[in-house]
Amino acid sequence: MELKIAIVTGAGKGIGNAISKRLVEDGFFVLLVDIDKSNGINAVDEIGSDKAAFYLTDISDEKQVNALFRSIEETYKRIDVLVNNAGIIRDNMIWNMDTVDFDLVINVNLKGTWLMCREAARKMKQQNSGRIINISSRAWMGNMGQTNYSASKAGIIGLTRALALELGKYNVSVNAVAPGLIDTPLTEKIKKEALNKLIEAQPTKAMGKPEDVANTVSFLVSEKTNFITGQTIYVDGGKSIGAGV
Ligand code: NAD
Repeated sequence: MELKIAIVTGAGKGIGNAISKRLVEDGFFVLLVDIDKSNGINAVDEIGSDKAAFYLTDISDEKQVNALFRSIEETYKRIDVLVNNAGIIRDNMIWNMDTVDFDLVINVNLKGTWLMCREAARKMKQQNSGRIINISSRAWMGNMGQTNYSASKAGIIGLTRALALELGKYNVSVNAVAPGLIDTPLTEKIKKEALNKLIEAQPTKAMGKPEDVANTVSFLVSEKTNFITGQTIYVDGGKSIGAGV
């Protein structure tokens, strides 16, 4: 039987790691892409090299992304699923934010996602099949101190919608998932007091788990969603609904 190949970026830890494990459970052979070598290798050791492989790649680097897809083409000849999950934050109020932190966040979150989408689109169009899931964030709607991050995540939604139009007739769907507050190494960096306030502002009064996002990705790449494309699904405990008070 032919292997079903899924690529997951930022797969070494956090949400990407949970997505990778969930897609392995769903029967995919998962290609874990990350800029962090030791986390990526550990993740594959944990999953098993019969079910996953690690690719060291900085998704914001065009040459590295192109080399990644060349290597995948040589080895596997197909791509069934691409999950663009890698993302970073560099928070500050705009008046204190250095240009380098704007560029970095846009380059990884938005340009990196676009570079990966372009290569996957070329392959999936030719295959006449495929699923692309882009991890945006509820923060695209606006978060204090995140002008760079919110802009990058809003950009991902625009990219998702436009690409869904371009790839629709090639039997390729493109959807976005917008997580809210999820308990990962990324949110561990938030100061305890600030984190408690964020949790208190949640309608559910709780953080989500990486598995909550992974389950949604699993659903979106399944046969159950053949007629869904260009959509953004919120996994945020209701935070996107509106004012909670
Ligand atoms: P994380 O920091 O725990 O993990 C991110 C992973 O991406 C790391 O393994 C890191 O090495 C990798 N990465 C970073 N830059 C990369 C690059 N240039 N190329 C390849 N890999 C790179 O983050 P997380 O909390 O698991 O978040 C995953 C995604 O979900 C991100 O896109 C994030 O913006 C989004 N998100 C997270 C939350 C949350 O509350 N944790 C909420 C909304 C959206």
